[in-house]
Amino acid sequence: MQILDFFAPILVYFHDISFIFAKKVVILHSILYTRPIRMKVFDKIVDLQNQLFDDRKQGKSVGLVPTMGALHEGHASLVKRSVKENEITVVSVFVNPTQFNDKNDLKNYPRTLEADCKVLEECGADYVLAPSVEEMYPTPDTRQFEYPPVSTVMEGAHRPGHFNGVCQVVSRLFYIVKPDRSYFGEKDWQQIAVVKAMVRHLQIPVEIVECEIVRDKDGLAKSSRNTLLSADERAIAPTIYKALKASVTYAKKHTLKETHDKVVKDINAVDGLDVEYFAIVDGNTLQNIENWEDSDYVVGCITVYCGKTPIRLIDHIKYKA
Ligand code: AMP
Repeated sequence: MQILDFFAPILVYFHDISFIFAKKVVILHSILYTRPIRMKVFDKIVDLQNQLFDDRKQGKSVGLVPTMGALHEGHASLVKRSVKENEITVVSVFVNPTQFNDKNDLKNYPRTLEADCKVLEECGADYVLAPSVEEMYPTPDTRQFEYPPVSTVMEGAHRPGHFNGVCQVVSRLFYIVKPDRSYFGEKDWQQIAVVKAMVRHLQIPVEIVECEIVRDKDGLAKSSRNTLLSADERAIAPTIYKALKASVTYAKKHTLKETHDKVVKDINAVDGLDVEYFAIVDGNTLQNIENWEDSDYVVGCITVYCGKTPIRLIDHIKYKA
């Protein structure tokens, strides 16, 4: 009895100590093994490639999200999807000079790498590639990419050289990262068609994943260029999507041409908005159609100049999907 009285508190003491120790081990384990490793930012391509070489040795799948930075929820939705579907997500942040056909547009394009990294870390991205122009293009890229009709209509016709530049940079990123999947937003509807054509042409083994457009509450498609709009311009910009949305109902009782003309008229009626083109096309071939019955997949793609600068805004609407 006396012996038990003596040992009981000692046993309780050791029990408590071992319990506290075990708890500490569990916490430490969770910090080491479940807390995401900090996102890494690379400005040298070879460093990212070495890192990916190690990841691939462990059999990890890789998703790539190409961006030009000034990130918003539209970009974030692509990154989050990649994080869900791949073990490693690489995001490139690179304002690609070869896809700009307007020097002022390139000069004014917003550059916000620090804020972008915060967004990307919150989304769960693993690696950011933010190279200089010299790093990405050590020698001028003289390759020419043309995939008519998808690269020559609409944006292709109005921004000469734009898709050539897009293909130059995206093909480089595919060679550098060798992703299993790459994520693109439907906001740039035509860009997806061009990238898919390039992937087929170059036989690059990557799956192109199309992600839905993300909009502000008032319907304006989120875009890095929206930050360049003045308050007055921002106030009229939602007219574009309003007119597109209204046209879906209008289209049910009107011809394709009547619907086309109404969208253009409604947007141009607003002082400060000027439609560059509105094309109602087959969603895959991007060829113009004349009647609603000409295709089972009908999309309207629009580009509008907004304000005095002016800022070029693009959007689209699905009539038949
Ligand atoms: P950017 O930085 O403009 O080159 O865009 C990078 C990627 O994000 C492209 O695949 C875009 O289509 C996509 N993206 C941009 N804005 C949006 C948006 N509002 N919703 C969905 N994806 C978007």
